[in-house]
This record gives sequence, C-alpha cells and structure tokens, in this order.
Amino acid sequence: MTISQALERIAPSRTTAMTDRAFELRAAGRDIVSLSVGEPDFATPPHVIAAAHAALDAGDTRYTAVPGTQRLREAAALHYARDLGIALPASQVIVSAGGKQAIFHALLATLDPGDEVLIPAPWWVSYPEIVRFAGAEVVPLHTEAASGYRITPTQLEAAISPRTRWLLINSPGNPTGSIYSAQDLAALGAVLARHPRVMVLSDDIYAPLRYLPGRHATLAAVCPDLADRVLTVSGVSKSHAMMGFRIGLAAGPEWLVKAMARLQSHSSGNPCSISQAAAVAALEGPQDFLPGWCETYRARRDMVVAAINAIPGLSCPVPDGAFYCMIDASPHIARFGDDEALCLHLLEHGVAVVAASAFGGKDGFRISFAASEAQLAEAVRRIAAALG
Ligand code: GLU
Repeated sequence: MTISQALERIAPSRTTAMTDRAFELRAAGRDIVSLSVGEPDFATPPHVIAAAHAALDAGDTRYTAVPGTQRLREAAALHYARDLGIALPASQVIVSAGGKQAIFHALLATLDPGDEVLIPAPWWVSYPEIVRFAGAEVVPLHTEAASGYRITPTQLEAAISPRTRWLLINSPGNPTGSIYSAQDLAALGAVLARHPRVMVLSDDIYAPLRYLPGRHATLAAVCPDLADRVLTVSGVSKSHAMMGFRIGLAAGPEWLVKAMARLQSHSSGNPCSISQAAAVAALEGPQDFLPGWCETYRARRDMVVAAINAIPGLSCPVPDGAFYCMIDASPHIARFGDDEALCLHLLEHGVAVVAASAFGGKDGFRISFAASEAQLAEAVRRIAAALG
C-alpha cells in the first residue's frame, strides 16, 4: 500500500504538529506553555455563542448551499465593504471550512503541473505545501527583517515568468507581522498591471490585528483595476476568536468563486450550518470589542519583544500586526544542529514554539503572543533558562 505522489510531495503542517505534540505532553502530565499555534486566547463573544445556540435550537442542522447560506454570504459582502473597502455582491463570496480550505480550493482549482506560484518568504506554513500538492512550483521571494519582510516591485518584476499563475500576499503577515501600506500595494499593483495572467491571493485574515495608525490596505481596494483577478481571503477565526467554528471567507471574480464551489461540492460540501449562523452574528453584530483586544495584544507584543531581545543570542523585530514574533536564534544554532532541534530542546524545557524553517525562514523560531501575560512571562523565562 502506498500514498499518492501528490501527498508524497507535502509534509504534515508543522504548526499543527507542534501543537498536537504539546497536547500529548500535557495529557501525559507535563507542564507545557504552548506558543506554537496562532489562536486568540480570548473567549468567543457572547452574542456569537448565543447565535450558535439559537441555530441548534431552531433545528438549523441540515445541509446548506455549498458556497454558504445566502444570509452569510450577504453578511460577508457587508464585511468586505465595511472592513476591507472591497465592494462586491454576495455571489462573489464563498464560505469554506476555515480560511485554509478556501486557499486550498482556490489553488487546487486553478493550478496545473508546471505553473509557478510566487510566495514571499517567510511564509505561512501551508502556502507552499498546498502549491506542491497541486503539482505546481513554489518560487520563493526572500525578504529580510531589515526591509520589514516586504517584497519590492523590482523583486516581483524579476520573479514573474510566463509560467507564473499566482502571487500570494499576506498582510499582516504570519509569521512576521509585516504590513504592506497602500503605497506599497500600489507599487506592486503597477507591476502586476503589466502581467495580466498573474492572479493574486491576498490573505487578509489578520487585518483586524494591526498596531500601526491608519486603516488596513488591501490590493483589491487599492488597485480596483486588478480586482477581477484578486481573491481576498478573510474569516472570523482571528477577528472573533472562532477558530473551532471553522469558517473562512474568500471574495473574488465570480468564475473563481464558482470553480472553488465546484471543488468544495466534492470535498467538504457546505461549511457547518451552526457555525455559519454564528458567523452571521459575528459579522453583523457589534465589533466594538476589537480595539480592546488589539490593545491587549499590543501590550503583550511589547513585553515579549523586550524580554526576547534581552536574552543573549536572541533577537526579534517589532511586528506591526498579527500576533507572532519571528525570533532569530542564529548564535545558538550550532549547539543544536538546526532550528528544529532547538525547538525540541525548548519543548523539553516546557515551551512549544515552531521552527523558522517551517515558514521558509532559518535559524530561529516563531512564537505566538496570543497568550496571557503570565504564560508569556513564564515562556520567556523557560526559553532563557533553556538557552542559558
Ligand atoms: N494560522 C495559525 C498558525 O499559523 C493556525 C494553525 C495553522 O493552521 O497553521 O499557527
């Protein structure tokens, strides 16, 4: 018995693998602070929970339309207009079981062997794996902390070939927290305008979590002339602490949304009916808790960045959004061999983090600061002790 060649090309998700390992160790009685998976530690807002209860009580437990209920697609269209500045009808929105599934379906529905996908590195762990699963090739666009982990127009122009099918943009970015301004996006958009065959997947799942002044900027809003080839991914996991509900959103050209629905009709079918009802409440209900969450994250970020930079041999820039710190540990790597071994050493000392190499980086690790200040302080203490 063998697995398929497509599956052979990909590894299990290293963010979820480390988190599962932390769960196992905890179940075995070990005291582990897990900063591996990125998930808000806030409670899901009560009006969202109430909507989920109401959906269950109303018997809202049947299949829905594959791309999501009309009600949720309309609420999502409202969210795209209100929060991202992208005006489109509900027919151009699809609801999936998490943002990850939307990305999976978009890429599987459009890529053929030999196609190339440009991905700025460091990248979120699943982007390259999905591209490889589809049989296409990953073209990394390397970025550095010193330039804010942003690609430049010149770099983009040089990387585009006749085989380029997609550019992936993730702002605020996981794992770096980097943010593209409207000017940055306009400059990239000018390059893209010269290459009409290149589509753009803009993953804006962290848009609500930014620590810079001003509004979030996204490509489809900044460059409306490109909007007919941009798919903008969003969701409620990060904004409303609804990770387990598994609701992701994607909005773009109707042909692509239909193609994704065609694939979804054979994979998961519709997303969970109860989660969809809860997501309507999330998107249509009050959003006023978000600034408070952001303030809390910002305070944690400042505390963690200062504490990490005080540990000899570790350094990390200040992330502008999301809730991750990308930490350089290069002076320590020789002792362990590689960053994966360093992370296993940290796990032995009671902290779960994810190696930078999982994200196309090197010689370091990512931590999520979506944890309480007490947990973060304890994690940093353990990291210092483990490397001391
Ligand atoms: N996006 C989160 C992370 O990077 C969730 C886990 C995952 O699916 O990778 O940790």
